[in-house]
Amino acid sequence: TTVGVPRESAAGERRVALVPKVVEKLRSRGVEIVVEAGAGLGALIPDELYTAAGATIGDPWSADAVVKVAPPTAEEVGRLRPGTTLIGFLAPLTAAETIASLKAAGVQAFAMEAIPRISRAQSMDALSSQGNVAGYKAVLLAAEKSTRFFPMLTTAAGTVKPATALVLGVGVAGLQALATAKRLGARTTGYDVRPEVADQVRSLGAQWLDLGIEAVGEGGYARELTEDERAEQQKRLEEAITGFDIVITTANVPGRKAPTLVTATAVQGMRPGSVVVDLAGESGGNCELTEPGETVVKHDVTIASPLNLPATMPEHASELYSRNVSALLELMLKDDDGAVALAPDWKDEVLAKSCVTRDVADATVNGGDA
Ligand code: NAD
Repeated sequence: TTVGVPRESAAGERRVALVPKVVEKLRSRGVEIVVEAGAGLGALIPDELYTAAGATIGDPWSADAVVKVAPPTAEEVGRLRPGTTLIGFLAPLTAAETIASLKAAGVQAFAMEAIPRISRAQSMDALSSQGNVAGYKAVLLAAEKSTRFFPMLTTAAGTVKPATALVLGVGVAGLQALATAKRLGARTTGYDVRPEVADQVRSLGAQWLDLGIEAVGEGGYARELTEDERAEQQKRLEEAITGFDIVITTANVPGRKAPTLVTATAVQGMRPGSVVVDLAGESGGNCELTEPGETVVKHDVTIASPLNLPATMPEHASELYSRNVSALLELMLKDDDGAVALAPDWKDEVLAKSCVTRDVADATVNGGDA
């Protein structure tokens, strides 16, 4: 079996789907790795480190499996042969066109976003590994844009009060943001519509903001709020937000537009010099004044909505992502007469759910085995 690692083509995407350490591990499993020249350069990994790890430099697109970070462009889909396995972030709930083109091309595609969030699949959970990077970096960005200190200072020139930081939406990125802000010395508070995260928030030394609105939906994820709930939530948040120097938002409902949690009125109520970092820019943003991808100043409050923060920490983000990808690959590798082959067992929930396009004939054969 061969696995191809292309050079990512999306603007600003500095991550790579496999790092040399993980190449070595897959090699020891009997997998051949073909890396496109320069694939690791964004993450400062030269081709020589890949060859030293046992990979060859060449055309990654004709491999049995192609592993990527960002969804493939139309041109890249055109390079995939029918029957190829593709693994990467594919935005299955929002990029219907890409998914349709992969299907038409006869590609067996696995979306990292669709891997079920169950204990057994934690090693493959790329939403979590990359969410950690985003949450961490969001806080650093907030500190950089802030006109105030995060930590409390007691100096001869006077005392500085610690910053207060509010994190709205405490999934993986939000929890990491709380932890990071705390380490920098801020007083932290977390808010979510899933009450189960209250204990996780408190265990990070943060306060839990209870607005009395619970919205748990399918698979433990948050559901969209009703019109009334939304109005109520915005009103209560407008009151709560005024007291904070830093607001970091990460709220998402998979496949939907991000909920508006920070209204223009809320921003107006914040002290001048405060900062909002909105991590939901890709799905429209959690702040009414957010301009996705931009940093703007409104009512003397900086509102930053960076897109793809994980790409700004390409070394560790690639290392973690790489382990997620190889764990998924290993789940579908079967030893076959001394050689190793890709043979996904469709009875495995992790593979069945993460696979977003596949050959129906193949599905029937495997289904017949069941
Ligand atoms: P996400 O990026 O989809 O959303 C971020 C947070 O926003 C979530 O906590 C969500 O509850 C919250 N949110 C959505 N709408 C909101 C609103 N209107 N107001 C306030 N908050 C709102 O989340 P994520 O970080 O990808 O993961 C969260 C989900 O994944 C949870 O269901 C969690 O239990 C699950 N998870 C499970 C595992 C596992 O191994 N079992 C690992 C990681 C995550």
